[in-house]
Amino acid sequence: MASSILQALEIIAQNIPSLESEIIPIEMSVGRVVTEDYVATFDLPRFNNSAMDGYAVKVSDAGKKVNSNEVIYAGDNPKMTLVANTAIKIMTGAPIPEGCEAIVPIENVTIKDETLTLPSDIQINGFIRMAGEDIKKGTVFLSKGDVINAYTIASLASQGMTHVTVTRQIKVAIFGTGDELRPHFEKIEAHQLYNSNSPMFLTRSKELGCDVRFIRTSADTLEALEASIEATLDADIIITSGGVSVGDKDFTKEAFTNLGMQVLIDKIDIKPGRPTIIGTLGTTVIVNLPGNPLASMVNYELFVRAIIRKLSGRDDHLHGTVITMMKNDFSVRGGKHAVLLGHFNGTHFEPLKPQMPGMVSPMQEADGLILITPDVSILKAGQFVNMIPIKWDFCSVKKEELFSK
Ligand code: AMP
Ligand code: MG
Repeated sequence: MASSILQALEIIAQNIPSLESEIIPIEMSVGRVVTEDYVATFDLPRFNNSAMDGYAVKVSDAGKKVNSNEVIYAGDNPKMTLVANTAIKIMTGAPIPEGCEAIVPIENVTIKDETLTLPSDIQINGFIRMAGEDIKKGTVFLSKGDVINAYTIASLASQGMTHVTVTRQIKVAIFGTGDELRPHFEKIEAHQLYNSNSPMFLTRSKELGCDVRFIRTSADTLEALEASIEATLDADIIITSGGVSVGDKDFTKEAFTNLGMQVLIDKIDIKPGRPTIIGTLGTTVIVNLPGNPLASMVNYELFVRAIIRKLSGRDDHLHGTVITMMKNDFSVRGGKHAVLLGHFNGTHFEPLKPQMPGMVSPMQEADGLILITPDVSILKAGQFVNMIPIKWDFCSVKKEELFSK
């Protein structure tokens, strides 16, 4: 029996385990998921230091004329003590000397004949960066299940960490099925077709951080399919497209079940992409997507992405949504749980026109998708919709308002 979209996502969330972990250098870890909590072993900053190039002063000297004969640079280990009626010149990042109560920025001081006049308003601890105000010793600064980004690496490096424990990289194998298909780097006859799905899934899976192998298109026979499957069984996920419908040569499911696939999801109530099959074969997750390019892409974005997140051990493995508005009225046929790919401009969602399951060209325009229930026949301009983003790199061809007022 077909699963609903929500059931299919729930089955993935419940059944797909996370992979083992490995230890890698932090510089190699962008996009990977940490498998343990990281606790700060010291304060950041490590010591109270100056936030400005300026003068270390006593608050009681506000408004007074003082002398300054010493300087503390970043990297120094100052031993002197600041006493009343004096100031010590200090650079950004330099340790605060004993006795200092505040820093006065250079631009707030007037200097005449080697005597400084301090401003009348000096706040206690002003312009001092306190030890631990950024990361406190003993606190968790990176949690199990978090995805590492360049800024996480800054935190790790600031704690002097050279290596990090993360889920190992997911190995993905991809092959298409269909006697009509040829690889894009070969010459084809008029009645043949380039396999566009496999390179699409190869590159998309790489974008999502997987290590991907691309196996040549399989012919539409059980023997050829079983040979392709056997060549890929060391993968964590095998993604196929085509041969899952009711055609005379649609043998994909049979080939996988012959080799022992346990079916978790046999068809999904979704348009496009109903024939999708998801299962396991040993420890390998199998995803048989439909051959129609747009149908397979939509199901990849909804279900394969969820599987990848689950395998990688992410805490936030569920789809997030952006609540946005329809740009224009949009009529749909209704009667099905359907997916609409669309363009999101930051404020509005505009479904792509046309978007038929067999098409290739609309996919590259899609920033996100929305799911609609069978009772929906029209989406009105201005109506709120819950968009599941596909790409999340927000740039513009025209200058936009950059300030929030
Ligand atoms: P199937 O699911 O095998 O019946 O295929 C459905 C449609 O998708 C047919 O028109 C196929 O030619 C096409 N198709 C299947 N696999 C691919 C592929 N890898 N790349 C592009 N089109 C495909
Ligand atoms: Mg086929």
